[in-house]
Amino acid sequence: MAGEFELIARHFTRAGRPAAPGVALGVGDDCALLVPEPGQQLAVSTDMLVEGRHFLSTIAPERLGHKALAVNLSDLAACGAEPRAFTLALALPRGDDAFAAGLARGLFTLADAHGIALVGGDTTAGPLVLSITVIGQVPPGQALLRGGARAGDRLWVSGRLGDARLALEVFRGRVELAGHAFDTVRRAMELPQPRVALGLALRGVATSAIDLSDGLVGDLGHVLTRSGVGATVEVDAIPRSEIVAAHASTLQHTCVLAGGDDYELLFTAPPAHDEAVRAAGRKAGVAVTPIGRIEVEAGLRLMDAAGRAIAFNERGFDHFA
Ligand code: ADP
Ligand code: MG
Repeated sequence: MAGEFELIARHFTRAGRPAAPGVALGVGDDCALLVPEPGQQLAVSTDMLVEGRHFLSTIAPERLGHKALAVNLSDLAACGAEPRAFTLALALPRGDDAFAAGLARGLFTLADAHGIALVGGDTTAGPLVLSITVIGQVPPGQALLRGGARAGDRLWVSGRLGDARLALEVFRGRVELAGHAFDTVRRAMELPQPRVALGLALRGVATSAIDLSDGLVGDLGHVLTRSGVGATVEVDAIPRSEIVAAHASTLQHTCVLAGGDDYELLFTAPPAHDEAVRAAGRKAGVAVTPIGRIEVEAGLRLMDAAGRAIAFNERGFDHFA
């Protein structure tokens, strides 16, 4: 067990390390001091993870640390912003040293992979909650926003969808999966990979973007509403793992259309940019797949490969629904 200041000093202060670019002063004073790069806008986003709501108590602390930062970096990715720094507000039930150490390991491994520093935060006793604020940068006018989709644009998605939702169904006891298959989908749920490089490569290529945290149908709905357009999605074209594809089509639809926690990018681009989109995917080392079209007519139409309508009425995730 450790006190508040010991926990901060032991696990969340990295003395002796060179400050990350843009950080004049990190953890330890009343404020952090960041140096903005001339000609850049700051992109700021906060995401909170609450035990039992956003993660199960079965998650290892190291994975929890990773996930808390990953879901925040995913928001920067969706805006095409370059990560610069982050803060961490942490409520812990106990001053549990081993737990804090694991958390910090997962957090800093991902932070180091993106070259960003933890510059401050707050630590308190309470039910397990991690709230991270990420700060990034993007040149004016280049942020990828939800409102830019235009009729005629193609709709794209990165990676594959549905594994995380399938893992959740296993934990809920509704699906049985063991061995390697379970490890794979559990990894997708607990160790999402934020598509930061793809977001950067899509600047000037995509017309709109969002990251998939609450399920494709719900998140695409935000883009359509904000952009004042509609869409047709070819459901069979949505990329999914062989593990998801081995299940009945109703469960597959739940996983790829309403499965939260994918943290892939959903984005639009005019067909003239098809090659540029594929080049962005190659540059970022992530698959990009066309799954539909943006249309003038409002609403979302789901089709199978033969062009027949698919009925689906699960909404995306809403904490208060
Ligand atoms: P104050 O009382 O002035 O708000 P605190 O005592 O809460 O400061 O925190 C001391 C220092 O440690 C501050 O620089 C704060 O940003 C930092 N800090 C506190 N908790 C964390 C944390 N979980 N991760 C990173 N930095 C933290
Ligand atoms: Mg404080």
